[in-house]
Amino acid sequence: MMNIRDPRIELMSREELRELQLRRLIRQIKYVYALSPFYSRKFDKAGIKPSDIKSQQDMVKLPVTTAREIYEEMERSDDAFAGRLCVLEDELAYKLRPAEFPALDRQFPECYVFQGKILAEIDRMNKLIARHWFMMGVNRGDVILSKEAPCWENTNFSIDSQVSWPLRGVGGELDLTMLHMEAMSEGTMLILELGIDSKERFQYIFNFKAYSPIHCIFLHTADVPLFIQRMKELGVTTKDLGTEVLAIRYADYTGVESHEKRKEIADEFGIEPYCILDIPDVAFYSSECPERSGIHVSEDMFLVEATAPETGERVKAGEFGKLTITNLWAEATPMLRYQTELDVKLEEETCPCGRTHARIIPQGYK
Ligand SMILES: [Zn+2]
Repeated sequence: MMNIRDPRIELMSREELRELQLRRLIRQIKYVYALSPFYSRKFDKAGIKPSDIKSQQDMVKLPVTTAREIYEEMERSDDAFAGRLCVLEDELAYKLRPAEFPALDRQFPECYVFQGKILAEIDRMNKLIARHWFMMGVNRGDVILSKEAPCWENTNFSIDSQVSWPLRGVGGELDLTMLHMEAMSEGTMLILELGIDSKERFQYIFNFKAYSPIHCIFLHTADVPLFIQRMKELGVTTKDLGTEVLAIRYADYTGVESHEKRKEIADEFGIEPYCILDIPDVAFYSSECPERSGIHVSEDMFLVEATAPETGERVKAGEFGKLTITNLWAEATPMLRYQTELDVKLEEETCPCGRTHARIIPQGYK
């Protein structure tokens, strides 16, 4: 059975979808131009006005934004947000600072630039994330085992925790609550912190299956080898846990694991992984569907392009370019044409799952 959370949006004809996207794009550009000194200068320097953007294609008139450029502006302006903050700082419900700063030359930074979100944005992000978790087959009442979740002793975790809020979001949308194990009630999705740092803690997780099957395991790419090692040490498998969904988060900008690597993971876990591509700098979140025919973008919320690294020009259809994203709904620290390091091509044909939104095919993807 297909898990489609927002069928009206996810199955919308491409024509309707492009119209919806364009309306949001035009609104977003006016908003950003009016409130962000960083972007208004960028428009002025390029000699264009918001009214010059009349189609998705017109976006090429605006040069791409890179993390390096934002760093330079931070230094010049002595402003952590580099002139991108469009709300008052005390309106922010959530702030994200790169854990390693500056992160430009780091291998796997969580994010590169400072960001903020107001409450309304967190709500939008939650809906987006819930859509993708649904897509991967996670439902109300399911138990997720996660390395990314905060400690399970924390029932009241703080909103500025770097890792908790996306899961907290799914919690709100999928009627999920992060609770202490004893407080678990029927019909509540539970997220457990995954303690893979010690064999004993890992064993504890496996003991949990006495209470409930662990429907989903959610891991960062970097944690996969250790998880496999722990399974081997204890002589257990995901089958023992009753796990049906393996969600792996690729947040490192360097590219999705190769087909061979994915196959290796599938063999070790006994489940084919789902890929989550999450780019916090631009509040981007995307995932595969059960067809695994690319990574589904939510195009009602983002405009994605594949662009040439130097010029920011769009590459020809079917060719590889740098994944470049415009967020269509951010209010606090919006991002227009954010060029990442990820080499991708875009597939706009309707997916066999029925979703009409474009899919990202990273280089090295099967
Ligand atoms: Zn699909």
